[in-house]
Amino acid sequence: MSNLEGKIALVTGGTGGIGAAICVNLAAAGAKVATNYRNKEKAEAWQKEVKAQGYDIMIYQADVSDYDACEAMIKQVEADLGPIDILVNNAGITKDGMFKKMTKDKWDAVMKINVDSLFNVTRHVVEGMSERGWGRIINIASVNGQKGQMGQTNYTTSKAGMHGFTKSLAQEVARKGVTVNTVSPGYIATEMVMAVPEDIRNQIIAGIPVNRLGKSEEIAALVGFLCSEEAGFATGADFSMNGGQHMS
Ligand code: NDP
Repeated sequence: MSNLEGKIALVTGGTGGIGAAICVNLAAAGAKVATNYRNKEKAEAWQKEVKAQGYDIMIYQADVSDYDACEAMIKQVEADLGPIDILVNNAGITKDGMFKKMTKDKWDAVMKINVDSLFNVTRHVVEGMSERGWGRIINIASVNGQKGQMGQTNYTTSKAGMHGFTKSLAQEVARKGVTVNTVSPGYIATEMVMAVPEDIRNQIIAGIPVNRLGKSEEIAALVGFLCSEEAGFATGADFSMNGGQHMS
């Protein structure tokens, strides 16, 4: 496991499946970890649960599609914990539908939460990281952003766009000790995927060479590595972890 003693990490969407595993992985490696929430009750229950496992994760209310709310959250995190060294842009949603039936509301919601959030959150942390000469930014995209997926024009556009953001920002901050990478998970057994009807889920699993869904902890371990000192030479890259479902 990486040694992240003394590092401050902000993970968006930490109360969800993959985000929660990332929070725990970084906290176990010694980082002080904060996350944001929309649903206070859910977040407080989750915070209690992880505290019982021995991890103190700070929670802050902020919608990642709201620029001002993100700025306020980051100021508060930095006032409480210190300057942010690690940012994991993980919060995300799906609003699926075939394109001919895709509504503007579904399109806009996915763009605001999956794409605008990159600007809304990262904009407030990247300068500080550059000035201090160290930083790690990891954007959680998706295998479907790499390969495309029927019924997900909005989601796949947002996730493919995420990697463009990664590559451009990585070039801007590489000399400042800040790395920016994308992690593209395949199908992971979180609520998002378990909400897919069982017969469709079984068809998905049949198309995954390792013949199972991934685990949030597996994605979290990759994120943990990318946050480490040893990963300092990795930047602008898109790391796939998808059970062999898509090989590029
Ligand atoms: P979950 O639905 O379990 O968690 C999503 C998290 O994002 C929740 O904490 C949710 O908070 C938060 N969130 C959503 N919208 C907002 C918002 N507007 N402002 C703040 N927080 C928000 O999803 P997963 O853990 O499965 O997915 C995490 C990331 O991984 C996503 O970006 C997803 O696209 C990506 N991914 C997931 C895969 C999978 O198989 N599960 C595969 C590939 C990629 P709240 O509950 O309060 O809404």
